Amino acid sequence: MQTKMLINGEMVEGQGEALEVVNPSTGERIGAVNEATEEQLDAAVATCAEAFETYSQVTPGERAALLLDIAQVLEDNQDELAGLESLDVGKPWPSARDDEMPLTIDTFRFMAGAARTMSGSATAEYVAGHTSMIRRDPVGPVAAIAPWNYPLMMAAWKIGAPLAAGCTMVLKPSEITPLSTLRMAELLSDVVPKGVLNIVHGRGVPIGDRLINSPQMEAITITGSPATGKAAMRAASQQIRHVHLELGGKAPVIVFDDADLDAVVETIRYGAFFNSGQDCAQPTRIMVQAGLYDKLVAAAADAVGQIKIGAPRDDGTEMGPVVSAAQAARVAEMVDAAKDTAEVVQGGARADRDGFFFQPTVLANVANDAPIAQTEVFGPVVTISRFTDAEDALRIANASGYGLASSVWTRDVGRAMQMSARLRYGMTWVNTHGLPCAEMPWAAMKGSGTGCDMSVYGLDAYTSVRHVMIAH
Ligand code: NAD
Repeated sequence: MQTKMLINGEMVEGQGEALEVVNPSTGERIGAVNEATEEQLDAAVATCAEAFETYSQVTPGERAALLLDIAQVLEDNQDELAGLESLDVGKPWPSARDDEMPLTIDTFRFMAGAARTMSGSATAEYVAGHTSMIRRDPVGPVAAIAPWNYPLMMAAWKIGAPLAAGCTMVLKPSEITPLSTLRMAELLSDVVPKGVLNIVHGRGVPIGDRLINSPQMEAITITGSPATGKAAMRAASQQIRHVHLELGGKAPVIVFDDADLDAVVETIRYGAFFNSGQDCAQPTRIMVQAGLYDKLVAAAADAVGQIKIGAPRDDGTEMGPVVSAAQAARVAEMVDAAKDTAEVVQGGARADRDGFFFQPTVLANVANDAPIAQTEVFGPVVTISRFTDAEDALRIANASGYGLASSVWTRDVGRAMQMSARLRYGMTWVNTHGLPCAEMPWAAMKGSGTGCDMSVYGLDAYTSVRHVMIAH
């Protein structure tokens, strides 16, 4: 197990408290990783700021070559990295390798191309006798914080765009799932120039907090909970910094009477319980028109009841545990609270085995304003509720505090377009849900965040638009 951090191109052991790493599928200790001290964090910040002076001047072509090298290193080591991810988060092993590694690697390959294709308004004489041009320059050193649900993929989303834009960075993975990111740090230590990418280990407070409040960091990027997003906004307000946030979600899945029932049920079975339901965009809030409601509840309960839970390396495991004892307790508490008003048609309790397993759960007859329909569970739980018509569905969905993912299920193309235009979510899928690709933005609105990861728009958070004017 690799436990060292990457600071100024060197692999160094944290000198702070030893933080335990636990195997979620057994509840047993895997080992411990020492947290960075404040001095070590400050050293990472200082080297990051220093490296910005040179890396920001590197040509887009050279940045692209670096990103392609990173992608290649990850591809060459993907079995090992996926193995660590599966162990640390409890993901089924084939899923960690075959579902997650391709997009993790492709994020770097896409950003290698994006680095060379930045666009802006045409250079021209907008004032007579003066030529104006647009520059998009790297914003500065970046403080990046990643969550535990897809540790390596979220690290890739956080690293690829800033490095493409010409920024240097300090990244802190989640303290409960550091293993794949620390191994990646080691693999990249002689690939990335000194100080350009620094990876530290530690808790949100003190280490994450100190990182986002460091005066040398000129942009903050966070993927995490709304509480951490607010901490970033507060930190940014003290020094006026750029902030990019990808926070939680509670995705409405709006199913009209004319929808393909089998396709919806398949998406619930395979989409909502993927990664044990710990995904910000998952199809967890099923809203169904009256004509299809009873059939959908019965079919979803039946399909979800067939999901095979088990340890990551067991044959046929479709769903593993949730990430921690705390997360399992939180899921159980939310489901128990919902039982007074909703009907449990599948699961509804902790699974009877070691580790942090929770049964795949379907709750029906859920009121649209119930806490379980409004709040992100981040566990294997879907709610099913009713709506009457398109206006009703829009009103219910848009009343949510979140604005990340949504989907519309109908055979009527016109209705799909009208709904897509009016849903206040960063992403809307029609007759599918949750498919990501590096070319398209993972975009947030409202309480789900600001800006996006992936796509050419992912560079916006890490570039400043500048005007240069020449008098002649
Ligand atoms: P979290 O906010 O608890 O932790 C995320 C990271 O923030 C961790 O590295 C943590 O150490 C750090 N952190 C916590 N407090 C901090 C502080 N005060 N200052 C600086 N850093 C701090 O979130 P989590 O539990 O790891 O992840 C789950 C959350 O992430 C969910 O809400 C989920 O929806 C969200 N998420 C969003 C996306 C997206 O793309 N929108 C993707 C994955 C996860």
